[in-house]
Formats: sequence, C-alpha cells, structure tokens
Amino acid sequence: MLLDKDYSLLTGALVFALRYCLIAGIAYFVFYIWKRKQYFHLKLNPKQPAFQQIKSELFYSATTLLIYSFSVWLLIYWYQNGYTQIYTKIETFGYAYFFLSILMMIVLHDAYFYWSHKLMHRIPFLFRFHKIHHYSHNPNPWSAFSFHPVEALISLGIMPIILFLIPVHPYALIAFYTVITLYNVYIHVGYKVNFMFLGFPIQNTAEDHDLHHRVSKYNYGLYFSFWDRMMKTYK
Ligand SMILES: [Zn+2]
Ligand SMILES: [Zn+2]
Repeated sequence: MLLDKDYSLLTGALVFALRYCLIAGIAYFVFYIWKRKQYFHLKLNPKQPAFQQIKSELFYSATTLLIYSFSVWLLIYWYQNGYTQIYTKIETFGYAYFFLSILMMIVLHDAYFYWSHKLMHRIPFLFRFHKIHHYSHNPNPWSAFSFHPVEALISLGIMPIILFLIPVHPYALIAFYTVITLYNVYIHVGYKVNFMFLGFPIQNTAEDHDLHHRVSKYNYGLYFSFWDRMMKTYK
C-alpha cells in the first residue's frame, strides 16, 4: 500500500501536512509561546514575527506541501514503471546500507540545495520566485516551507536525482523527508540554538540561515556549511 498510486496522493498530502504541523507547531509553541521569555536572550531578531508574515508563510507552505504530495504520486508512478532504484526488502542491501543511503541522500540534497539556492539568487528571473521566501524577514518555524510554487518545484529536482541514482528503501525515503522537515524548521527557528548533536563544526545553524534572510549573499547551504566555506560565501 505504501507504493500504491491510488492511495498516494491523499496519504502523501496528509503525511506532509501532519508532519509539518507537528514539527513546526511544537517548535513554535516552545519558542514563541511557552518558553518565549526564558529563551528571549537567544532570539536572533528581538521582535516577534508580524501576523501578516505568518499568514503569508502558512499560505505558501500549504501550496508547497500540496506540490510535494503530488511528487509522491509521481514517485510511485516512476517506481511502478521501473524507472527508480527503489527496493522493498531491507535485507537486499542490509541495515548498514539502509542508514548509509539516508546519509547519502542528505549529502546529495545539501549540494543540490546549495547550488539551486545560489542560482535563484544570482539569476534575476529565478529570484522573482525565491523572493517569496525572503519575505520572511524574521524567520520562525512557519517560514520553513514558505516557497513560491516554482521554487517548490525546483526544490523537488533532487528527487529524480536520488531515485534514479541510489537504491533506496521507502522507509529511508520517509526518514529523509522527516529530516528535511526537521532541519528546515531548525534553521528557521529564529533562536540561537545548538542541540547536542547539532553542534558539529561544518553544520549550517539557525544563526547562519537567519543571517541569510538578512544579508542574502551569504550562507546558501542547508545542512552543512562546507559548500559555503569552499565557495567563500560563508559568513
Ligand atoms: Zn530560509
Ligand atoms: Zn535565499
């Protein structure tokens, strides 16, 4: 059923919406309502995000997630027609490969994100779409997927690259989508937070990405900062 096209659109939309509302909702509740005063000294922009900004973010996030749901349908279409490297028995490649495949998807996605994001800033035609994301002058968890539909489609370009190149199990894909949501919410949280494991030197942090929303010629990365450091766009 996981790879059945008939169920995919509705299930995909539900899973995307629930996962996003849960992760962004918890982050928003903790940092912007419950612990707001306690963590105020860590807030990167002392002002609270304007209601108008959050309203626009919710609208654009909803359209992005709807487009992502359609991509699940397409993924299953490709799978059923034998275009992908998707495999359904974890034993085929073993558990070590299962976890390695998640890591490979993250590394590939980071490179794709860096270059597509940088191009969206450098090519004026593409920046017309990306500027929707930069309306979020004061990033918060609801900014994570606030993209123009064209940018949402560009961001999906990583999926065929992964599906056609790397053997992946559907559970690894679900884990990868969850990492994308978690990490996107984290870099938009608007607070200087480094969780235990999220403190390694080449990590792209909420602080780094907050700076990108203010000075857009730096920090194009998603999970890591090594592309930025290598291409001298890190600040
Ligand atoms: Zn952003
Ligand atoms: Zn940008």
